[in-house]
Amino acid sequence: MALSSIKPSAPRTVSAANLPAAPQQQALTQQAPEDAFVPGLKPTVKQLLELTKLEASPEFQRLDPSVRQQVLSSLHDGGVTPNKVATAKALISAPGFKSMAPENQKLALETLAKTGFNRFIGKSLERLVNAPSFNQAQKVDQTAMLSQAKNYPNTASIGNIERLSGKLWFASQSHEDKARTLKTIAYMSDPSRGDRTIINNTLEKILGPDAKFDIQWVDHQGRKAGHAVDSDTMQLDYSYATPDNGPGVQSKLDWVGNRTVPHEVNHLLSNYKVESSYKFVEDEYRGWYVGVQAQLGRPPTKAEAAAYFKNAYIDDMLGIYGGTASGVRHGKEAGKMFDLISKAIGVPVTDNETFYTSLTEYSKKGTGVRNEAAPPPPGNIDNR
Ligand SMILES: [Zn+2]
Repeated sequence: MALSSIKPSAPRTVSAANLPAAPQQQALTQQAPEDAFVPGLKPTVKQLLELTKLEASPEFQRLDPSVRQQVLSSLHDGGVTPNKVATAKALISAPGFKSMAPENQKLALETLAKTGFNRFIGKSLERLVNAPSFNQAQKVDQTAMLSQAKNYPNTASIGNIERLSGKLWFASQSHEDKARTLKTIAYMSDPSRGDRTIINNTLEKILGPDAKFDIQWVDHQGRKAGHAVDSDTMQLDYSYATPDNGPGVQSKLDWVGNRTVPHEVNHLLSNYKVESSYKFVEDEYRGWYVGVQAQLGRPPTKAEAAAYFKNAYIDDMLGIYGGTASGVRHGKEAGKMFDLISKAIGVPVTDNETFYTSLTEYSKKGTGVRNEAAPPPPGNIDNR
């Protein structure tokens, strides 16, 4: 197809009269990249040559006309540069790209265009579409993977979508659950949020070459976000991730991805069991602590620890851990549990009486103490 047959932003003749009168200083700071096609200016011979070579290439020629149109219009958008042309050409030449449906090819190209034809994103997309696990996936599942790459267009998210595609437990999920898993993993992988050490360690335990843990989606009807069910599986609640190709609700994904998943992985790493033992209480406190740190990028404060203990052990007489934790408080390991609470909120807790008065005592403390970081619990607090 000839360049002239597509008119995304047809080169216009430029005269001094239709150039904006910019102050000299502004012109310097807004200087376009060396090889940019500035809208309103004619592309240079070099740029036209690159485009012409692309248009003449067999990789371009064999594309569906609608895909060809998209390649050219997105290259023109913001100005053609040889680097953009090279990045686009590399992607359309990827073996995996050639076998994709035109709709999916367009999705991958939209992601590339969204990032200004960033060559690292281009490389990540090439790796994803070339992965055997991606090639073998159903077309709708390829759409789901590429949609989340577009929603979270960074190399970490796209790389982790590729790693996820190769996990058997993921391949055996329903299409709806795949959509849920994809957006959760893509969200967690986005490096702009949370404690990256904990979240990346957590992702490694799910996606790494030696990963043993997997995700199941279940209907807890929103009662709890997650649950570690056996030695290697965590269950997450349907209500936190919609089964579609959209980016999901940020507040929900921030909770389930950046807080609940690190919490449950921490349990899976400690051979967690629901039982009336001090270990269970410590595992829960550690899981909570790691989840807060992962999501907020800072340790929980003593105020947050006090609210946690109230919620976990005291509200409605027994709190969310019910008789399991109550059994510890009345058993031979009670002293260890009291000591854990005492250290976390900075108030002496020595028996069941001071256990109940501890939060009242805590509430008399000034904001200085409330805002202090709660001390970390023993054990693995970064999911390494
Ligand atoms: Zn837990």
